[in-house]
Formats: sequence, C-alpha cells, structure tokens
Amino acid sequence: MNLMYNSTRNKQETATASQAILKGLATDGGLFVPQSIPALDKTVEELSKMSYQEVAYEVMKLYITDFTEEELKNCINRAYDSKFDTTEIAPMVKKDGAYYLELFHGSTIAFKDMALSILPHLLTTSAKKNGVKNEIVILTATSGDTGKAALAGFADVEGTSIIVFYPKNGVSPIQEKQMITQKGANTKVVGITGNFDDAQSGVKAMFNNKELAERMDKAGYQFSSANSINIGRLVPQIVYYVYAYSRLVKNGEIKAGDKMNVVVPTGNFGNILAAYYAKNMGLPIEKLICASNDNKVLFDFFQTGTYDKNREFILTTSPSMDILISSNLERLIYKIAGNDADKCADLMKALSTTGVYNITDDMKANLTDFVGGYTDEAKTAATIKAVYDKEGYIMDTHTAVAAGVYKDYVAKTGDQTPTVIASTASPYKFTRSVMNAIDSKYDSMGDFELVDELSKLSGVKVPNAIEEIRTAPVLHDIVCESEKMQETVEKILKLS
Ligand SMILES: *Cc1c(COP(=O)(O)O)cnc(C)c1O
Repeated sequence: MNLMYNSTRNKQETATASQAILKGLATDGGLFVPQSIPALDKTVEELSKMSYQEVAYEVMKLYITDFTEEELKNCINRAYDSKFDTTEIAPMVKKDGAYYLELFHGSTIAFKDMALSILPHLLTTSAKKNGVKNEIVILTATSGDTGKAALAGFADVEGTSIIVFYPKNGVSPIQEKQMITQKGANTKVVGITGNFDDAQSGVKAMFNNKELAERMDKAGYQFSSANSINIGRLVPQIVYYVYAYSRLVKNGEIKAGDKMNVVVPTGNFGNILAAYYAKNMGLPIEKLICASNDNKVLFDFFQTGTYDKNREFILTTSPSMDILISSNLERLIYKIAGNDADKCADLMKALSTTGVYNITDDMKANLTDFVGGYTDEAKTAATIKAVYDKEGYIMDTHTAVAAGVYKDYVAKTGDQTPTVIASTASPYKFTRSVMNAIDSKYDSMGDFELVDELSKLSGVKVPNAIEEIRTAPVLHDIVCESEKMQETVEKILKLS
C-alpha cells in the first residue's frame, strides 16, 4: 500500500509521493506531508554496514513508495556519484568536542546539493509515472546558493530545462561567477535589475499565470519548481541524519540506542525539519537545536510561541539564513497541532494577513524536542577564529552560527550528549567573510587571492567547484528589468 500525502491546510487534498513531487505545492497553498511518518525498518547495526547510497535507499523507500526499487536506486546512484569529492558523500569530522557533518562535498559545495542532485531524477521519474509528456521547465529565483545548486542538478537532465533569475547586483562575485559559467544546453541564467524579492515575485506571477500555462502546454512545456518545500527535497535530507548516527556507531563513538543531539543552522527550516522527521522515524535524537543568525524569528518563536515576521530584515555574513518566513515550519505547525489541517490553515492565514501568529499551549507542549538559539555577527566571526586557533579547522559562516549556538547551549545546560553539527557550506563559498573573521588584514585581498590564502591556512585543497570558475568562460549574459521576466522566458522558450 502506498504512503499518501495530504496538504497541511486540507486533508481532502491527497497525493502519492510522485504526484506530490510533481506538484511541489498543494493547490490550496499548503505543503504536502506524509499521512504518517514511517518507522525505520533496518537496525542501526545493519545501517552501520551500509554505504551512503544504501542508507539513502532504506530511508527513501519508506517515503517514496510508488517508485519501484529499480527506479529509486537508479535516482540515488545517479545523484550520489563522482559529483561528490568523497565516496563517503557526507563525511563527519570530530573537532572541538562536536561532530561536524560536512554536507558540502557536492558539485556546488553547499548542503543544497544533497537534495538538488537527486531532485531532477525524482522529478523526471515522477513525470513518466504520471504520464506527463511535456518538458518540465524549472523556474527559480535565487539569492545565490539555491540557483547554482539547482543549475548543477538539472544541467543536461533529459526532459527538463531550467531558468534561474538572480538580482544582478545582489549576489557575491563568486556566486555570480558560479552561475554565469554554468554548462548544459538546457540551462539559462538571467540577471535582473531588481532585488531578490522582485525576482521571487516575478517567478510567482509566472507560476500563477493560467494563460501562460495554456500556451506553454500547447508548446509542450510545463513549469515546476525546485524550491525547498518540495517533498523531493525534504526526503533526501532525512538520509544524512540516519547516516550520521550509523557512522557514530560504526566508529565506536556511541553504542546503538545511545542518544545524539543535532544542531542545524536554519533558514527555511527544511534541514532541521528533516532531522525532526528522522527522530520521528525512530532515530535516537535527543535535542534538535535550531540555530539562527541575527534574523532570529525562529529563536523568538521557540521562546514565546509567537511567530512574528514584522521586523527589520538584517543582512548578515550567513546570507542563506537571512529569512523571515521559514516556509517549512508549516509542516511542524501541522504536526504539533495534532495533524489538524484547519488549525494550520488558520495560522498560515494569520501569517499572510498580519505577519504574526500564536500557537496554543497544547501545541507549545509538543515542542520540547526543540531548543532555539542564535548567534550575532561578532560571535559568528569569533567562533570561526576560535576553532581555527584551537584545531586548525576552518568552518564557513553558516556552520559557525550553529557552532556558536552549541557552545552557549553546553555552557548553559552542561548537556554532554554527543552532538552532530550540520556543516552546511564549504568555507570556500564564503571566503571573504571567513578570512576576515580570522584576520582583518585579509580584507584588502582579491577574491581568488583569498581562496589561495584559505587553502594555505586550512591545508584543504581548493575544491573543483572554485578551481573551475577561475578560468571558466562566461556562458550567460542575459540581463532584464524585473518587469520583463515573463517576456524573457517566452523568448527563451520561443513562445512568442
Ligand atoms: C539554505 C542554507 C541554509 C538553511 O537551510 P534551511 O533548510 O533553509 O533551513 C543554511 N546554510 C546554508 C549554507 C544554506 O545554503
């Protein structure tokens, strides 16, 4: 029997896994959630003998039940291959009293590769299964990381094409270079003269344009989204928590059944939600520590039970966590409301109309697995420097937010539970901020000079993802005004 999914806002709207992957968002604007969270059916001993790909199969088969074994294994093997620079896929290193789970060994050196390298295959398999004949056009607005990871994931995947919009003056030089040098005949990258919100609004408007959808359909196209609310992104992220636990056991750091904590640097709440699902599948996770930067909406939420996005948006050195609406939190709200879709719909309505909602005391009582924390800019930088000075290990700014929160948590609670910190980006992705944290003298150097300095200090070879773009030719140079995004898409698809 298939595991079915329903919308967080309406239990009547149901879908199989493949349908939910194709649709992304439910028709009523809700997120698809499994009707029950499946339990792991392999023991830790069994899992500890498996490769990353094998663990991925054991986890994902429980969620994506309408794929055959061959289909799912095929997706997994095409995603987690030599695009990763280590056969471990997600290696773990023990530094300064914690286990850093390095989720940045994929093609764009950030954790979004963990899901975006498999999503294209899940999507094309789902399309076949549901008789979709159209070419799937992925439209994405990005503030940097997602765009490149999506481009790398979809490049040359048959039956798909991808168009990424980014704010021309709103991403780092390295991020821009990564995108505009993207290879693949089915990829297009467009700079817009507006900001990220303009890009996001333009993409949303195209998704909601029925007239455009009809013309696309006639021409053999349909839109889909690669954004982080798709269950095809959530499910692959559960895998590495199960894998991490099984490695701790394999390496003799803990015994099967012992507890572990996880600390996750959080933005859209996708990564930490995956850890919560892993816990609900039976993985012995004790605390889920949710780490925020100065945009500490989630910290306040866990303190007070009030979610309030009406506040100043702060630009930080951990930009992938600069978010005031954490979309995936809706799945947690639904769960702590006792899978009550009406209640969840009410709260989400309050969020969209007033920017605020309050959860009930009963719901709050269901949040005891979570601890919220945050780290400001000074402490983020100090954490990078302190761990470098002590261990010679250099972490990126996002990971440092989590490491800073973990330090505070231990100081406050004395909790000695072995703890895994989700390390979400390579320091090479945020080289300037990382090097400045170590010594302000680096500020005067050029971007690629800094890359070489980082390599000297850390003893870690410059990753291919960075080495490539030093000399790679620019392949994308389209720039348009934010009002002309649809026109640009129509031109690219030759609709007009
Ligand atoms: C996206 C991202 C995050 C935040 O992850 P969420 O799933 O959105 O909470 C953290 N760090 C890095 C480097 C990211 O790219």
